[in-house]
Amino acid sequence: MANPINVDVAVIGAGPVGGILACRLANAAHSVLLVDRAALPHMERSGFDGRVYAVANGSRPLLEDAGLWQRLPFEPCPIEHIGISDAKLSHSKTPILLHFDHPKGGDNPFGWIIEARSIRMALNSALKDSSRIVLRAPAQATVERYTDRALITFAGGETYSARLVIAADGRTSSLRASAKIPVTRLAYRQTALVFAIAHERPHNNVALQLFFRKDLLLSFR
Ligand SMILES: Cc1cc2nc3c(=O)[nH]c(=O)nc-3n(C[C@H](O)[C@H](O)[C@H](O)COP(=O)(O)OP(=O)(O)OC[C@H]3O[C@@H](n4cnc5c(N)ncnc54)[C@H](O)[C@@H]3O)c2cc1C
Repeated sequence: MANPINVDVAVIGAGPVGGILACRLANAAHSVLLVDRAALPHMERSGFDGRVYAVANGSRPLLEDAGLWQRLPFEPCPIEHIGISDAKLSHSKTPILLHFDHPKGGDNPFGWIIEARSIRMALNSALKDSSRIVLRAPAQATVERYTDRALITFAGGETYSARLVIAADGRTSSLRASAKIPVTRLAYRQTALVFAIAHERPHNNVALQLFFRKDLLLSFR
């Protein structure tokens, strides 16, 4: 085996978690190997697919430190008011029970709604521009863990040695399973409907949350 190439951290999985972490590590002057078995999704070409992230204001620095906020190609929508209602299916219009107002004179909204493709596009460009990140995607790699390092070997024989390996390979992480890290799963026994709607009138940056009683939801189904 040829001498392995040394990196500080190997991140397995270039989804939002692994990708953003790789950017943050690189910005903190660590060398990073980032591996994904799939190609990076090129969401540049698709139109709005309805998927968004709600990012709390406290999480914005995380995206800024990763160098992603500055690269977002579509402007995030601020959440300036939050309305909460104890919804009743029989009522066409439900009263708002709690209303949180964006503090007058304050600089920050409660959070931001950001299109998933916007974060992905920023991430793809940041990963490609970073001189501290070696990106291998799509690529098949095997990971061997030792007490002082991990060896990551690619199909062609190229090998990297990392002091830390991070399992960011999703909810069914095989790396987590191989490390015998246990998982607790809770079945909610509920069905979720996820959809995007167009508003007839301006939403005025209000996030509206409707809470249904569980028994009402069951009868609704
Ligand atoms: C249909 C759907 C819709 C969703 N919509 C929303 C939404 O609108 N808003 C929202 O906030 N969240 C949404 N989510 C949840 C969100 O997608 C996840 O929380 C998020 O993707 C988790 O990021 P991750 O990086 O941990 O994992 P993933 O996004 O699952 O990324 C894991 C990566 O690891 C790679 N990988 C896996 N195994 C290996 C391996 N052995 N070697 C190398 N690479 C590997 C995979 O190819 C993948 O790229 C949705 C999820 C689904 C399934």
